[in-house]
Amino acid sequence: MIDYHIHTARCGHASGKMFDYVARACELSLREIGFADHLPLLFKQDPTLTMRIDQLGEYIQAVEDLKKEFPEIAIKAGIEADYLPGYEEETARLLKSYDFDFVIGSVHFIDGWGFDDSRYIDGYKDWDIYKLYTRYFGLVADAAKTGLFDVIGHLDLIKKYNFRPEADITPLVRDTVGAVKDAGACVEINTAGLRKPAGEMYPSADILRLCFESDVPITLGSDAHKPEEVGKDFDLAISAAKDAGYDRVAVFNKRVPQYISLDIF
Ligand code: ZN
Ligand code: FE
Ligand code: FE
Ligand code: ZN
Repeated sequence: MIDYHIHTARCGHASGKMFDYVARACELSLREIGFADHLPLLFKQDPTLTMRIDQLGEYIQAVEDLKKEFPEIAIKAGIEADYLPGYEEETARLLKSYDFDFVIGSVHFIDGWGFDDSRYIDGYKDWDIYKLYTRYFGLVADAAKTGLFDVIGHLDLIKKYNFRPEADITPLVRDTVGAVKDAGACVEINTAGLRKPAGEMYPSADILRLCFESDVPITLGSDAHKPEEVGKDFDLAISAAKDAGYDRVAVFNKRVPQYISLDIF
């Protein structure tokens, strides 16, 4: 098993030492993990959301040190980058300055509104929910089209607080999944949604089937913000992957994907 979405305390809303995340992964006999802490935001600095730019080098170094400390597990240096319209070039530049194994691209903001942040949950009142989903999935498609990302993070994060539109969102999602396919990116099965009001993984079973039918590869992530969340609910993630039709998952080395069989998990 692999876990390709692990945070560190540098982001200001995760806890525990990196050592403990890796130790937990070893306890679970994971073969491979990827740290993917939050890349600094380019439109504001918020110590409760991301690390600072001057911490990036030290973050990468910490992963290198852990590789030596834990030869029994493969540890990758990834990053979770926000897709921020208008900041594509700056994001590209920042991503190029480090030798990441993989980059997760995530949409956490709509016109500066942090819709997945419980502090700003009031913002949902200002939206027609179907229009909100339309806007969100449009942004995710735009994120994929930048070509900056290897993995699209929590594809349907907009459901986090369980605000659900009445109308069918399949047409919106179909376009987004098409954009991910065209970009050659993966989606992740992210188990964090199970721990949130939405009560289900990102993406939903329906969307995952759409991804499979569109030939979009997957990877697996817990989005751990505490050591005990590493590998959380991966039995469910693996059955969801198999139910959708998948028999392999992607791992990354210096941004080049490789596929490993789900049967060995
Ligand atoms: Zn986070
Ligand atoms: Fe995220
Ligand atoms: Fe994350
Ligand atoms: Zn995330």
